[in-house]
Amino acid sequence: MRYDDSPPPPESASSVSPDRPWYTRRSTLAVAVAALAPTALAGWVLTQVLTGSGHDGQPPGPKALPASHTTGAGAHGGAGDAKASTTTPSPDASAPASASASAPAAPAKGPLAGRTVVIDPGHNTGNFKHTSEIDRQVDIGTNRKECDTTGTTTNSGYMEAEFTLDVSRRTRTLLESKGAKVVFTHDADRPWGPCIDERARIGNEAKADAVVSVHADGVSAGNRGFHIILPATVKGGAADTSKIVGPSRDLGERIAGNFARSTGSAPANYLGSGTGLVVRDDLGGLNLSTRPKVFIECGNMRDAKDAAQLTSPEWRQKAAEGITNGIVGFLGG
Ligand code: ZN
Repeated sequence: MRYDDSPPPPESASSVSPDRPWYTRRSTLAVAVAALAPTALAGWVLTQVLTGSGHDGQPPGPKALPASHTTGAGAHGGAGDAKASTTTPSPDASAPASASASAPAAPAKGPLAGRTVVIDPGHNTGNFKHTSEIDRQVDIGTNRKECDTTGTTTNSGYMEAEFTLDVSRRTRTLLESKGAKVVFTHDADRPWGPCIDERARIGNEAKADAVVSVHADGVSAGNRGFHIILPATVKGGAADTSKIVGPSRDLGERIAGNFARSTGSAPANYLGSGTGLVVRDDLGGLNLSTRPKVFIECGNMRDAKDAAQLTSPEWRQKAAEGITNGIVGFLGG
């Protein structure tokens, strides 16, 4: 269940030694870290980005399809937690009425007034009951790929699809409070999917100023931390990311910095060379997007320590804050 062919990098113990020490330091020096200006940490991440090795131009081999986004199915077979799909975790159903259909008369207030953000909750809690539908191949421009996947779970059965929906809803509440119009690709309002090509299309048709697809990873224990997936430059069929590669990187870097700061999580220790950023050319949701778009893998559901965070509502709120603040920064709010 890994994104790149190569084994997880014990990598250069250079600048910022791998994540482990960083975690440790964070916890022991919590006060000191808290005292660091937000920009300091953002700067740290940025520095890592700028000095980052490896993943640049051509990222992890597109051939080594990551299990969590292709066949995460295995994990689900036994989990059978369908009931979870009805959870309505957040009180946001009635969140500040986003610039409703009615009128331009009531201009939304806040730094994101007039901006549209599409949030894509990865997978769907019903996908595992609709394997024939989601296994159907769709055109992603450069290739063909499954319509959607089940996603992963924690060892105790908390589904990635529940996680993504919860973080997305929390993010929506925060974005709407800043005046944004928020569009979801789905909101537990359909039995499965949408397919990855439709997820991209929703962002395109909404003319989104930013699109974020929310996920959590499912790789072996000991692999920890978050990462942002940026679109590679691809061209083929309906895919042409040339116009979004630059702005998507900006969006991704801002989310990475803010996410690290708000959650206290470190960039992934198993890919991205410690930058928290990975470029990929094999994801239909990115390849088919014409709007600035990134994926965020908030943590590793298969690692007990990461899972303890991912299953915590308080932590998920911090995750939503980090994502939101990154979007606000990107949109210049
Ligand atoms: Zn996922």
